[in-house]
Amino acid sequence: MNSILQQDLNDLENILEKAKQQGINFLNNLEDIPTSNTNKIDPKRILNDLGLGSEETLKEFNERLAPLLVSSPGPRYWGFVTGGSTPASIVGDWLASVYDQNTQSVSSQGGNSALIEFETINLVLQLLELPDSFVGGFVTGATMSNFTCLGAARQWFGKQFGKDFAKNGISENIHILTATPHSSSIKSLSMLGIGSQNYTVVKTVEGNREALDIVDLEEKIKTLNGKPFILISSAGTVNTADFDDFEAISKLREKHNFWWHIDGAFGGFAAVSEKYKHFVKGWEGADSITIDCHKWLNVPYESAFYLIKKEHLSLQIETFQNSNAPYLGNPLENFNYLNVVPENSRRLRALPVWFSLVAYGKEGFCDIIEKSTLLALHFGNELIEEGSFEIMAPIRLNNVCFTLKGDENQDKVSEFLTKLNDTGKVFMTPTIYQNRKGIRASFVNWRTAEDDIRIVMEEMKKVLKDLNL
Ligand SMILES: *Cc1c(COP(=O)(O)O)cnc(C)c1O
Repeated sequence: MNSILQQDLNDLENILEKAKQQGINFLNNLEDIPTSNTNKIDPKRILNDLGLGSEETLKEFNERLAPLLVSSPGPRYWGFVTGGSTPASIVGDWLASVYDQNTQSVSSQGGNSALIEFETINLVLQLLELPDSFVGGFVTGATMSNFTCLGAARQWFGKQFGKDFAKNGISENIHILTATPHSSSIKSLSMLGIGSQNYTVVKTVEGNREALDIVDLEEKIKTLNGKPFILISSAGTVNTADFDDFEAISKLREKHNFWWHIDGAFGGFAAVSEKYKHFVKGWEGADSITIDCHKWLNVPYESAFYLIKKEHLSLQIETFQNSNAPYLGNPLENFNYLNVVPENSRRLRALPVWFSLVAYGKEGFCDIIEKSTLLALHFGNELIEEGSFEIMAPIRLNNVCFTLKGDENQDKVSEFLTKLNDTGKVFMTPTIYQNRKGIRASFVNWRTAEDDIRIVMEEMKKVLKDLNL
């Protein structure tokens, strides 16, 4: 064994202890670590011939890299839809690295890590009150989940014409209908060879809404003259957390032949709360659903899962099977994750979610969801009370989409946001909503409290003053 590796092995306990201490220091200081940093890492480090060993490397990380990392798991990182990481999820994440399983076949010897993934999917179905007619698995994020679901949908579409797109390529014009898709679904259409421009936009509901208009959907379906199509619907749009009407879509299934996909990356968690589950009523009728865990479930990146109806398993296998490796056996008999997802080798990605669900239960997650939505409303009220802001859309769930009051201030929105983010006290992201510049604050993190809103409002008032607004 290389002498540095040997030295590390001998010193393992001390090294892990130091890493633990470092983790504790970071997590205990999240409130004070800035949410943004304009200093950049110079990435041109020369690779040393002789290794430094883990302890010295940790020192270098501490001196050169760690101080420039931001408090994205902290309570005032409100940009995008950013979750934090609960204690149990960190334990699961650390142990997934320590146990270092290659999670694939449930039936092979040593296949118990795949059964842990199965068990975790079973737990999330219970959390979301979805039936076990769905089979699911873990991927790196909602983008890959959308990709996996739409990959199976693509194969389904071919089947309607007696064709196998996975084997022979796409030879029919695939019809996609959608109203307010997330950019990652469009990216998936590109990756799947369907084409990122090859979809038909369905109108949104009249008024200040991003939800799909069912009447217009029916119009668009009519123009297809009975041809099959793929519907990409939303459970939680990123600007305004709007939901398509799933009960109405379910009814359309009685008359029309389509694959129904729901992107519920964060909005799917509405199902956890008695107050909000009406938003997803009827969603169990979908063919496939995307859910992110590194958002509202508050586990570390990279964690999301797909759910696809059991009856479509063969379509999914046709799309993702690693068929040039016959030693892996018959993919239908021997359920193997590598035959149903884009990746072959995979870590035990379910473990942080398993730890979180067992540690905090249904009630823990219901509390996180309901607290986030209360904080969003509270922030919205503070913005209105301040007088210089306008809320751009109703606060349905956890996102607040707002802007500076007055069209004359539209050209100051970017400067306002840059100055605000530069304080390092809060981080929000820009958006365009109904052709106007806006700002999004998304409440997702389990640590965020009312006092954080007070701190942010103070900073916002200072920036307003600074800009003479
Ligand atoms: C965040 C998000 C995605 C993409 O998720 P990643 O985890 O970044 O891949 C897709 N859809 C919706 C609705 C999202 O909010």
